[in-house]
Amino acid sequence: MIPPAFEYHAPHSVGEAIGLLGSLGSDAKLLAGGHSLLPMMKLRFAQPGHLIDLNRIAELRGICEDGGTVCIGAMTVENDLIASKVLQARVPLLCEAVKLIADPQVRNRGTIGGDIAHGDPANDHPALSLALDATFVLQGPNGKRSVKADDFYLGTYMTALADDEILTEIRVPAFAPKTGYAYTKLKRKTGDWATAGAAVVMRLDGGVVSHVRIGLTNVAPTALRATTAEDALKGQPLSDATIAAAAQAAMAACDPAEDLRGSVDYKRAMAGQMLQRAIRQAAARCA
Ligand SMILES: Cc1cc2nc3c(=O)[nH]c(=O)nc-3n(C[C@H](O)[C@H](O)[C@H](O)COP(=O)(O)OP(=O)(O)OC[C@H]3O[C@@H](n4cnc5c(N)ncnc54)[C@H](O)[C@@H]3O)c2cc1C
Repeated sequence: MIPPAFEYHAPHSVGEAIGLLGSLGSDAKLLAGGHSLLPMMKLRFAQPGHLIDLNRIAELRGICEDGGTVCIGAMTVENDLIASKVLQARVPLLCEAVKLIADPQVRNRGTIGGDIAHGDPANDHPALSLALDATFVLQGPNGKRSVKADDFYLGTYMTALADDEILTEIRVPAFAPKTGYAYTKLKRKTGDWATAGAAVVMRLDGGVVSHVRIGLTNVAPTALRATTAEDALKGQPLSDATIAAAAQAAMAACDPAEDLRGSVDYKRAMAGQMLQRAIRQAAARCA
């Protein structure tokens, strides 16, 4: 299908893009990799009169380290996350998990910022950003503001981004020594979105869980931070019983929608399974 007609704009700076957003109003949409927006336009779910292409804005791409924080430009494509030496050394969960997103063609064009800004609970970055305790830098006509991933996802396709703001940067705390991590994703076939996914970041102190953050993919209207599952683990020795208790707590917090990937009960059960596997994998890496 061919999308409806639109005017195309190609700014060269964030300031220029924000100016265009301000003058064109709600009839304008930002274009990143286009792998979510263009299909929605072809299906007439989105019909913007103006597209503001962010691809020529060099300042929005790249990965660097700033003290103990890894800073990722919103227009950095998935394949560049996988190849990043900084991420491999400091936030290896991202390199590993991104390999499970879509296929090489999509990863060559799709951006981390687009994946997050789209607000789709089926996308993988939202749950990963919750587990990683990421912060998003949003820039608009009044300057920059920072929003924690915990506060960003408001509903399906709804985020804390205002109409005149751009997500410019994703800031992720570098892993402390002996941080364990895992992302488990059940999918029907290579390239598919998750039926259920679980991201875990944890640390152990003498066999007791001293730090844990859990994000779940595609089992609720937004990516889900499973705080009750975290509470079932924190301060506890890691055992089959505590892992099962965490899985039960996560399953109780899930609110999946039935679709072609399965029933509500199946998805809830798979969220529990994915979480148990992720906790065990993460724990094995804590040494
Ligand atoms: C076949 C296929 C399989 C896929 N499988 C997966 C998968 O398994 N897991 C997964 O996570 N994703 C998957 N995707 C989605 C893919 O990762 C998209 O690239 C991603 O959802 C959107 O990123 P994008 O750069 O393409 O953004 P776009 O499609 O260009 O934009 C998406 C939305 O975000 C807005 N936006 C983009 N950038 C910004 C910004 N910097 N600031 C503010 N708003 C912005 C746009 O206006 C638009 O509303 C798949 C896509 C396809 C086509």
